[in-house]
Formats: sequence, C-alpha cells, structure tokens
Amino acid sequence: MLDFLHKWREKRILSRSPYTDADWQQALSRLAFFERLSQEDLHRLKRMATLFLHHKSLESAGGLNITTELKLVIALQACLPILNLGLDWYDGWVSVIIYPAGFTPIHTEMDEYGVVHEVRKPLSGESWERGPVVLSAEESLDGGIIDGHNLVIHEFAHKLDMQNGVANGMPPLHRGMSAPQWSKAFSAAYADLQHRIAHGKSIVIDHYAATAPAEFFAVLSEVFFEQPRLVHQTYPAVYQQLAQFYRQNPLNV
Ligand code: ZN
Repeated sequence: MLDFLHKWREKRILSRSPYTDADWQQALSRLAFFERLSQEDLHRLKRMATLFLHHKSLESAGGLNITTELKLVIALQACLPILNLGLDWYDGWVSVIIYPAGFTPIHTEMDEYGVVHEVRKPLSGESWERGPVVLSAEESLDGGIIDGHNLVIHEFAHKLDMQNGVANGMPPLHRGMSAPQWSKAFSAAYADLQHRIAHGKSIVIDHYAATAPAEFFAVLSEVFFEQPRLVHQTYPAVYQQLAQFYRQNPLNV
C-alpha cells in the first residue's frame, strides 16, 4: 500500500513537471559526457532529476538568478551517480545553495594550542554532513566539459560518503561488496598517488585527491564518470570498486 502511494505521488510529480523537452535538450547540450548513456538511462535520469528538483530546495546566494538551465544541469549531474542506486541515497538533507562563482566561506579551525583561526579561502563547492551542498553556478554549468573535473559529482560523492557518518572515503557498501577489498584498493591507490606527487612523477589525477581519503573518493568519482578509462588504466582495482558501488560500468568493460 505504501509503495503504491509512493508510486502514485511520484507519477503525479512527474506528470506536473514544468520542464519541457527543449529545457532538457539545452541542459544536456552542456553535458558532453552524458553522450554514452542509452536512451533508456537518459529517460530514467530525467525522471530522477525531476523528482530531485521537487524534493530538494535550490537556493540562490550572492544575488544569483537560478535559471531552468542551471537547475537541470545541477540535477542531472547530481543524479548520475545514483541512477542505479535510488534517490533515497540523498535523504537526510534538503538544501543546495548556489553562488554565482567561487565563494568565500568563513570557517573556524582550532590548532594544537587551542587557538581558533578564521580561515577564509575561495572555494567552488562544499558538502556539509546532514547540511547543505554548496555549489558555484559557474563551475556547475561548466561541469560537463570532459576534463576529469566535475564539481557537482565531487560534492554529491561526499554526500554519499557521509551516509554512514563522517566523510572518510568509504560510503555504505552494498551487500556482496567487501569492506576489506574496498580499503585495500583505495589505500594502495591513495598511497601510490601520494608517493608519485612526493617524487615529482607526472600523474593526470588531480593532486587534490591526495589531501584526504574522502577527497580521493570524491575526485576519483569525478574521473570515473567523466574519464573512466583513466581510472581503469591508473587504478583498475579502484575502478572495479567504484563500478560495484555505483552499479555502473561507464567503460562497458
Ligand atoms: Zn571535496
């Protein structure tokens, strides 16, 4: 019965969707890496993005005007990682705060002497545990360029990671997946990246991935969806774990 009600509500939201084919086309034209998706996947993704926009609150900051194009570009990229997982993976929070370009958060950090410093640095995105996702509009719109950088996927990967507590680079794994195998694959790749950077060896993975295991998972998720071959060639065991977790195989290997 509850399932029936849930489906009925979804159907109603979808039938009242304000987004036209032209709106979707315009948004998708910015997302080059979506071209590998089948028509069926694309259809499911648009449905999920419509439900995402119904349930989440997109809020502007810094005087930004949130256009339909921006909404759809964010929702489509946010939903790609959970296409085969379900929208409930983003339960527990509602707000997506969007700034025009890089924003300057004011954070306080306490050092080892107990002194609290105010830290100000321009950022393009943030994810708060049980709180909002904060995005730069400019970088969200440019996310579809295939360069291995994708702000929206990065921040939403943190959200998935936080589904089992603090972001530590390991989201809740599905039945049949192995936590030791995940740790082994990710720890080895993380150590390798740090080693390569420390020794000045060239590597195409963004060095930011080496700053924390949570960042490694978020950055490798960006590359997994945009340039899957790069992950597969550099860290094949990580590719396998990500394919199992996201239940997607962007390379079709
Ligand atoms: Zn991050």
